[in-house]
Amino acid sequence: MTTATLPQPSQPSTANRRERRKLDERCSGFLDCALQRLQVNDEIQALLRSPFREIKFELPIRMGDGQIRLFHGFRVQHDKSRGPFKGGLRYHPDVDMEHFRALASVMTWKCALVDIPFGGAKGGINCDPSSLSRQDREVLTKRFTERLGHMIGPDRDIPAPDMGTGQREMAWILEGYSEENGYTPDVVTGKPIQLGGSYGRQEATGRGVSLVTSWAAEETGIDLKKATVAIQGFGKVGRHAAKCLSEKGATIVAVSNVKGGVYSADGLDIPELFAATSDSEKLTDLSAVATSADKLSNNELLELKVDILIPAAVSDVINEDNADHVQADMIVEAANLPITFDGAAILTDRRIRVVPDILANAGGVTVSYLEWVQNRQRYRWSEKKVNRKLNDTLRRAWQAMLRRADEEEVTFRMAALLIAIERVCEATELRGF
Ligand code: GLU
Repeated sequence: MTTATLPQPSQPSTANRRERRKLDERCSGFLDCALQRLQVNDEIQALLRSPFREIKFELPIRMGDGQIRLFHGFRVQHDKSRGPFKGGLRYHPDVDMEHFRALASVMTWKCALVDIPFGGAKGGINCDPSSLSRQDREVLTKRFTERLGHMIGPDRDIPAPDMGTGQREMAWILEGYSEENGYTPDVVTGKPIQLGGSYGRQEATGRGVSLVTSWAAEETGIDLKKATVAIQGFGKVGRHAAKCLSEKGATIVAVSNVKGGVYSADGLDIPELFAATSDSEKLTDLSAVATSADKLSNNELLELKVDILIPAAVSDVINEDNADHVQADMIVEAANLPITFDGAAILTDRRIRVVPDILANAGGVTVSYLEWVQNRQRYRWSEKKVNRKLNDTLRRAWQAMLRRADEEEVTFRMAALLIAIERVCEATELRGF
């Protein structure tokens, strides 16, 4: 027998824990303001804040090299009053329960705002996918599915890709779940086309970002064809947003990924950068592709003088330390929770418009819903039909948010949360206790 070494699971550093706590507090910060404004009673407030269920479980796997390593799997199911739980799976070494708690709650409001019949959830594994072989990731993902199997399902909880996961992980979940339950394509969304994925799902989040950006630009008096745009993040969301926005005539002057960014005052060659990168590969040196562009750091990108800034990478990047230095006229939150509660207050004082994450990046979960519907019908729609439905769904949510913001003279974020919370409250009350 191979001697097994069982190292401790990777624990988030103290700094990261503090960050995560801030993330959770901030989320309740936005929520608190909205709940107060709606005068939701204390009992329902408590219900809306606390997750329906959360689970953390051991995931020991024997790696390809014979070693046994212990990871942990997480799933937080926040609210199911409007339908089955829905939300992505994140593979990242620093994730913990607090992290998923905040993100699961965001999913509840997002689904309610765009009016798709799902509640909110989020989960994942505390692993660094880039340091694992394809084989190890497959074993880990199938073990995760096996252990979570009783909690997920097409009418219970439907996972999807998020940071560090993609079509391949969704295929393994489909396989792992179907092994036990028979062929069940609707247990997961964001699958490869060959396994029941939907046309348009890969680019849906970025496409949604570009649609919402164009409507918000028009509303703000920015001519998109003359607008300059900076995008932080060139992965599953950012690169598609960049492509769609440049096709709409916007000038993308800066993009970045974890390795750093590139800037060109005349506009970057987005088709060239798009062709040189992929949704899963985050480590491309963008400056080696856009050789005539200037290099810039992620922080510098956030402070560029542009018309539109799109944070499309990680949480907390605009905060009380740098919100004063942001020079964009409008920010579109393509990432989940990219602006802290304190950062948002500074931006509001400075009259910088922010399109909130629960609308700006809702294109992904919207097409996830369309994928789930197609799977249930055992039927496939054309990409044109999917994109039309995506446009219509987001447009309705955008108009509702705009109307509410005008009527109550509140920020877009507040208006979006008011609509979402009202819908969830109503569903909760109607179901009874
Ligand atoms: N992870 C994406 C999000 O945060 C998509 C979730 C889904 O499609 O269920 O919205």
